[in-house]
Amino acid sequence: MTAALDLLDLDPSLSEEERQIRDVVRQLVDDRVRPHVADWYEDGRVPARELAREFGKLGLLGMHLTGYGCAGASAVAYGLACQELEAGDSGLRSLVSVQGSLAMYAIWRYGSEEQKQRWLPSMATGEAIGCFGLTEPDHGSDPASMATRARRDGDDWVLTGGKMWITNAPIADVAVIWARTDEGVRGFAVPMDTPGVTAREIRRKMSLRASVTGEIVLDDVRLPADAQLPEAAGLKAPLSCLTEARYGIVWGALGAARDCLETTLAYATTRTQFGRPLAGFQLTQAKLADMAVELVKGQLLALHLGRLADARRLRPEQVSVGKLNNVREALAIARQCRTILGANGVSGEYPVMRHANNLESVLTYEGTSEIHQLVIGQRLTGLSAFA
Ligand SMILES: Cc1cc2nc3c(=O)[nH]c(=O)nc-3n(C[C@H](O)[C@H](O)[C@H](O)COP(=O)(O)OP(=O)(O)OC[C@H]3O[C@@H](n4cnc5c(N)ncnc54)[C@H](O)[C@@H]3O)c2cc1C
Repeated sequence: MTAALDLLDLDPSLSEEERQIRDVVRQLVDDRVRPHVADWYEDGRVPARELAREFGKLGLLGMHLTGYGCAGASAVAYGLACQELEAGDSGLRSLVSVQGSLAMYAIWRYGSEEQKQRWLPSMATGEAIGCFGLTEPDHGSDPASMATRARRDGDDWVLTGGKMWITNAPIADVAVIWARTDEGVRGFAVPMDTPGVTAREIRRKMSLRASVTGEIVLDDVRLPADAQLPEAAGLKAPLSCLTEARYGIVWGALGAARDCLETTLAYATTRTQFGRPLAGFQLTQAKLADMAVELVKGQLLALHLGRLADARRLRPEQVSVGKLNNVREALAIARQCRTILGANGVSGEYPVMRHANNLESVLTYEGTSEIHQLVIGQRLTGLSAFA
């Protein structure tokens, strides 16, 4: 980021290795993403498989996991990578989050040794793509009410139902599907070429257009007993995966905000009205100052949560604090930057409106802001307002 935006001198708080990882990802985004992303966004098409292999080469997929070809990086390094990816586009950070923190993490944490050997090494290189199916057409914030069912038939499992709004589904090789069984919620590693599985792309999204999203239909999908993730019992298993992915968002959203602010600073210092640069007006400086303050506050929060994660002390409601605050502030920054760019703010020639539109999805997925308020509210009051 431009030195001026590091108001609190956070850079020296990072280790040499963390800074190196960040710089490598930043370079990748500059070389491979920035020149094309406006077109991918406009066309609603992204070369996700190709990008996944490039991300895999750099060790970004399942980056914070250990073994099975994963990089075993720190939580802070993973967060910094998310920040750089999302400075390119939230869709690309979503690709990496869903692959690493949702699909791979679920198999890594809850899978059998055989499932891990089968899927994780090829997912780490980006040869195999994973997705994570929790949300359903009629059950989003309340996954406990899910309608997708898995029933025993001899040794086999038979899955019936449907999942909606599933990132990567149309290009995935494997889906981690969460379904209700007689014993409660269970997870399954479902090869996408299993008979009865279909994935349809959701088109006409006005947000995250550089990300592939789909619907999965499960029509009497017969799976061998060993497709079940043996260590996953109950809804707490998918929720723990969401905590992993939400942590990446805490950092990622700030990447989008930073890119907006950098763009806006450059614009406001060169665009003149009334005979002086926009940046010379007090009202503009007030906006820029408020945004820069929120950005560094968010970065401090992300770094603090990252250090807690690396010390194995991060709690889910702390991740809710980070996701709620940082996505909300990132979206406010993107919208405010849009005003400073005037008409150019609505143009795809600048990244600002694209980031703002993307952040609308980021505000909603991985727990809406209201759900994170309820999580924090429950921690504060001891009362659950969910049920
Ligand atoms: C681009 C994109 C990608 C996604 N990728 C995935 C994925 O890979 N895998 C996956 O499983 N899901 C994915 N999702 C789904 C996402 O997680 C859900 O959209 C989200 O959980 C919200 O569910 P919903 O859309 O059904 O909204 P609803 O649950 O219907 O909520 C609608 C509104 O009501 C509010 N609300 C709901 N309950 C309460 C309550 N108790 N109190 C107060 N307010 C409440 C919500 O906060 C929200 O504002 C994705 C979504 C998008 C947009």
